[in-house]
Amino acid sequence: MRDSLAARAELTQHRHYRYRGCAPVPADVADFPGQALGDPRLHIDAWGSLDRPDDDPEPQRERIARERAAAAACGRCPVLDSCRVYANSETAAGQLAEPAGIWGGILALDRHRALIRRRQDQAVVAPPPSAALSEARTAQKQAVLRSLARETDEELVAYRAGMDVRTANWHRSLLCGLLGLDKDRASREELLHTARRLGVLPERVRIRPDGRWPIAAAPNGDGSRQRRIAPGMPAQIVLPGYQHLPRGRRPSPIPAEALAATHRARRGPRLRLVTPPPQQLPLPLPTLTVLERAA
Ligand code: SF4
Repeated sequence: MRDSLAARAELTQHRHYRYRGCAPVPADVADFPGQALGDPRLHIDAWGSLDRPDDDPEPQRERIARERAAAAACGRCPVLDSCRVYANSETAAGQLAEPAGIWGGILALDRHRALIRRRQDQAVVAPPPSAALSEARTAQKQAVLRSLARETDEELVAYRAGMDVRTANWHRSLLCGLLGLDKDRASREELLHTARRLGVLPERVRIRPDGRWPIAAAPNGDGSRQRRIAPGMPAQIVLPGYQHLPRGRRPSPIPAEALAATHRARRGPRLRLVTPPPQQLPLPLPTLTVLERAA
């Protein structure tokens, strides 16, 4: 991000700065005082918020039309790029250089939104320390992550991970912190995709989608954090009368050796397809030879 002072200097020293769209037309040739150079119908105040009394605000339709006309004039402005860079730059205090009005064809609200997105991207890009990643790779946390990738219900996550719900929740909460996520906001999918991006969760593990449901971290003591991973969400269908049965793959009641012997017996002898060697035919083929071979 450019320094706002340097960006402003670059804008104001642009050789076409005096011909910018929001500059006033010289008083001796203007149709009315403050006429904008970029659009003869506009006043230079059209790029900011009009100074009107509180009991007589600008009608919404007029405001939208004014903003559109000003943004269109920005599109024809010779210093558009420099103006946009300056308006989106940040001051030393971390504020937008131009927090209000239309600059570079962009409304103040859109510039603030872009600033928030940049901050969020920077927060996500900052990698967690390697010690935190090593801790996220312990056997128990890996079990919780893999279970969380398959299930959206906290009890099933704990069942698959081979631990009780309380322990599984505790590990989920720790994982959020280790991977640099906000425990109060990070969703289950966000946690899993971050783990995959950082190499903590293998690529081959399929993540069961459940949208942007908060939240992955365990509930906190005062109950302000959500109790379940996806409350009230019909994530999995349970047939009536089978609620007590855990869903998913269960261990087979047949011993492993007996199962392997059954598979071996079923498979039978191994067969190999053998193709005969190609025969050399005399060329050109006499009709009789072809008919004989066909017979
Ligand atoms: S791009 Fe900047 S300088 Fe040009 S008209 Fe728009 S606000 Fe004014």
